[in-house]
Amino acid sequence: MERVRVNKDECIGCGACQAIAPNVFSLNDKGFAEVIKDKIPEELTADVMDALENCPTNAIEEVNEDNKKE
Ligand code: SF4
Repeated sequence: MERVRVNKDECIGCGACQAIAPNVFSLNDKGFAEVIKDKIPEELTADVMDALENCPTNAIEEVNEDNKKE
């Protein structure tokens, strides 16, 4: 996994992803999660997988370099 995005239509702003991987996810001023790392560093991959699996609405998606869903 190298890149992820948050599907804004699905995110409910629960903050779980930010709690699990604060270096990758951040809640924006509207209260929804954003990915703040363009490319996920190797050492954060496990945390990002954790966040992806724990997102209650499955809003976190793996994407390729063109930001397309994998
Ligand atoms: S865990 Fe999912 S629903 Fe919760 S803030 Fe993150 S992306 Fe949004």
